[in-house]
Amino acid sequence: MSEAHLSEKEIQAFAIDQAHSPVHWTTHVNQCITCQHSVATYKLIFHEIKQQPAVAFDFDLAKLVVAQLPKPKAIGSSVLLMVLSWLTFLALSFGAVCYVLRGQFFNFIVTEPLINLLIVISASLLFLGLLLDVWMKFQEKIKVIDHIKLQH
Ligand SMILES: [Zn+2]
Repeated sequence: MSEAHLSEKEIQAFAIDQAHSPVHWTTHVNQCITCQHSVATYKLIFHEIKQQPAVAFDFDLAKLVVAQLPKPKAIGSSVLLMVLSWLTFLALSFGAVCYVLRGQFFNFIVTEPLINLLIVISASLLFLGLLLDVWMKFQEKIKVIDHIKLQH
C-alpha cells in the first residue's frame, strides 16, 4: 500500500466513477480503510443528493426576467437621426465636390454664396444630429434611473 492517501478530489472522482479511475487509486482504496470510509461517505452523499426533488420556484421566474429586460427603442427618433445623417452626408459631399471643381466646370452655377449656404446647411444638420443624439442618450439614462427608482 502506498503511504499517501488519495486527495479529497481524487476520492470524490473515485466515488463518482470507480470503473474509469486510475488503477493505482483502486489498488490504494482496496487496501486502505481510511479511504474506503471516505469513498463510502461520498457515495452516500451523492446518492442522497440524487434523491432530492428538483428545485421549483413558486413564482414565474421567466416572467420576472423578461420584465427586467430593456424595452426596444422607439423607431421614430432613430429614423430621424438616420435621415439627418444622410442629409448631412449628401450636403457635405456635394459641397466638397463643388469646392474641388469650383474653378473648372461649375463657374456659372456654383457661386461663393451657394458654397457658403451649403456649409451653413451642413453645419446646421450636423449640429441638429448631434443634439438629437445627446437628447436620445439623455432620455435613455433618465429611463434607467426611473426604472431603478421604481424597483426600490
Ligand atoms: Zn488511503
